Amino acid sequence: MVIDRRRFLQLCAGAGAIGMSRARAATYTPSPKLPIIDVHLHAYPADMALPATPNPVTGKPPGPKDGEAHLRACLAEMKRLNVVKGVVSGGSGDRLGAAAHWHEAAPDRIIAGAGIRGSEDTPLPEIGLLRKEFGEGRLRVLGEVSAQYAGLSLSDPKYEPYLALAEELDVPVALHTGSGPPGISYDPCCHGFRASLGNPALVEEALNRHPKLRLNVMHGGWPYLEGTIAIVNHYPQVYVDLGAIDWLLPRAEFHAYLGALTRAGFGKRIMFGSDQIFWPEAIGMAVEGVESARFLTPSQKRDIFYGNAVRFFRLGKGEQMKP
Ligand SMILES: [Zn+2]
Repeated sequence: MVIDRRRFLQLCAGAGAIGMSRARAATYTPSPKLPIIDVHLHAYPADMALPATPNPVTGKPPGPKDGEAHLRACLAEMKRLNVVKGVVSGGSGDRLGAAAHWHEAAPDRIIAGAGIRGSEDTPLPEIGLLRKEFGEGRLRVLGEVSAQYAGLSLSDPKYEPYLALAEELDVPVALHTGSGPPGISYDPCCHGFRASLGNPALVEEALNRHPKLRLNVMHGGWPYLEGTIAIVNHYPQVYVDLGAIDWLLPRAEFHAYLGALTRAGFGKRIMFGSDQIFWPEAIGMAVEGVESARFLTPSQKRDIFYGNAVRFFRLGKGEQMKP
C-alpha cells in the first residue's frame, strides 16, 4: 500500500475498527525460526520525518522518528524474525533513492524495487534511468507500481514502455491491487483513484501484450477474490502477495481470503509480504497472521513464507539463505 503520511490518517480512521485485540501480536516471535522472505516492504528517505500516526491495530505510535531510524528498526526486526530477504520499494519522496539506500545498508538482505506511479504529483521516472539501474542490478523489481492511485490500470498505454523494459530485462513486476485508504479519491493526490481499478482482472491486456512478464499481484487483490483467482488461474506467471491484508484486516476475514486462495489450488503462488509502512513491528504481526492460519499445513506455510518467493524472484542458490 503506497501512501503518504497525511493520507494514512484516513486509513487509520478506517482501520481503527479492527481494534486492539491483536496488540500482543506486535511482539510476536515465531518458533522455530525458519527463514522467511518478505516481498512487500517500504522505505522512506533517510532524512524524512516519519509521522506520529499510531499503528492502526495496536494504537501505539511508531518508534522511529525518521527514515534512517525506520530502516535500522526494520532491519533489526527482520533479523529477530529470521527474515533473510526483503523486497523494498520507496513509499514517499525520492522512491528510487530510498529503496537503493536500504539495499546499500544491507546488500545481502535487501532487494530494491522501483516504486512508480504515473500521477501528476508522482510522475514516472525517466525510462533510461530505470534501464541503467536494472542493468547494473541496483534495482531488481519494477514495483510497487501504484497505478490505481493515478487512476489507471496496469493495462493503460502509459505503462507500456516500462512493461516492455521489464519483459526485455526479465525484471519481475509488483503491482498494487485491491484497496486504498478510505476517502482517498477525495485527496488532491489521487482524484482519479477508483476502488474498481483495484481489480486484478484489469491486468489481463498487459499480460497479453507482454506474455513473458512475471507479475506479483500485491495485497492478494483483496477484496477481489474472483478477479484474483481468474487471473492467477489463467496466467501461470502471476503470483500474489499478502501485504497489509495479513495484519491490517480483521483476522477472520484475512484467513477466509487466504483459505479461499489456497482451496482454489494456488498455495504455490502465494508469497508472504508485510507492507509494514511506518511500523517495523508490523513485520512480526504479519508473520503471525499467516502462522496462525490453522488450515495451512506446515509445508504450505513454508511455501508461503519462503519457497514461492525463491521461485518467483528466481533467487540463486547462493543468495537463498543469506545472510
Ligand atoms: Zn500497495
